[in-house]
Amino acid sequence: MKKNFGFGCMRLPMIDDIVDREQFKKMVDIFIKEGFNYFDTARVYISGQSEKEIKICLTDRYPRDKYILTDKLTASCFQKESEIIPFFEEQLALTGVEYFDYYLMHALNIDFYAKFENCNAFKVAKELKKNGKIKHIGISFHDKADVLDKILSDHPEIEIVQIQFNYADYDDPKIQSKALYDVCEKYKKPVIVMEPCRGGSLINIPKLGKDIFEEEGGSCASYAIRFAASYPSVVMVLSGMSTIGQLRENVGFMKSFKPLNNKERVAIDKVHKILINQDIINCTACRYCVEGCPQKISIPDLFTVYNKKKQFNDGNSDLNYRNNTIIKGLGLASDCIKCGKCESICPQHLPIIENLIKVASIFE
Ligand code: SF4
Ligand code: SF4
Repeated sequence: MKKNFGFGCMRLPMIDDIVDREQFKKMVDIFIKEGFNYFDTARVYISGQSEKEIKICLTDRYPRDKYILTDKLTASCFQKESEIIPFFEEQLALTGVEYFDYYLMHALNIDFYAKFENCNAFKVAKELKKNGKIKHIGISFHDKADVLDKILSDHPEIEIVQIQFNYADYDDPKIQSKALYDVCEKYKKPVIVMEPCRGGSLINIPKLGKDIFEEEGGSCASYAIRFAASYPSVVMVLSGMSTIGQLRENVGFMKSFKPLNNKERVAIDKVHKILINQDIINCTACRYCVEGCPQKISIPDLFTVYNKKKQFNDGNSDLNYRNNTIIKGLGLASDCIKCGKCESICPQHLPIIENLIKVASIFE
């Protein structure tokens, strides 16, 4: 059985700070040739590069019926109702299409939802759908289950819901993957899964965990993605792939998708117990926090360096810390002025300020 598998265009292959266009084109070609067609983007992905590269690498090169394209309305991209349509038209032009298959109200939480309501964003989306510019209205969501319940009850026009769903966040009290999934089922909404590998942290797991998976057969990615895809209301699992190797591996096991069997579920439980006891920062490297930081601190990169030091005692960590701070002219962890801008936007609800203090204590 093939389960639908989508290309999340948030972590495209990069050369320094620029998308590696040739590699992305090759990835698009392989993905489509292997029988997949779903692409997901947003204005804020890679500081606007994602939408532009979608046009150059996908929509200029393939007929419209060969792909499904999802874009999003992000709270930081509009301040009032009258700004939504011009922003939307700009998105169509940038991505090179005349309509989006899915248009999601992006990263809703209780605060952003209030803004979307005040600006009548759902009403505008319904108009766009009526005019054929959107085929389906949806939301992507980062908050507690009761907030999702309220939104779905307020807006029956929502056709699909994108949630963070993976085995590490399944029972997590902040992310609440399982509880969010249950709310979607209650309202009979199909589910798109984001972060099945939790930003890569379910791939780069300790050796003990890798050994458990290897014993059963299969890679860390295959366990994480198949875990999400095994749930019946999940119609699409996204993966933010950055290399051809990752793409080939993922399409390989998703083309002939098999739900997890009991032995594989036991293996996941064992690995999950190992991960819970790790001292790492659960940043998914979405980079939403980076642009607004007045101190130019490359927050996710510093968290990655910290995690590698803690998990693997990586000998290059100190060098990588310098590279992601002083050498690139970016802020040190200790330059944080505790303004809180990053914490208010972090979909993982991380205590970023506190974590930066930990990072500084190790590397400075
Ligand atoms: S709290 Fe610190 S890291 Fe966060 S945005 Fe402000 S200065 Fe940057
Ligand atoms: S700290 Fe939060 S907002 Fe920043 S990259 Fe990590 S998960 Fe995303």
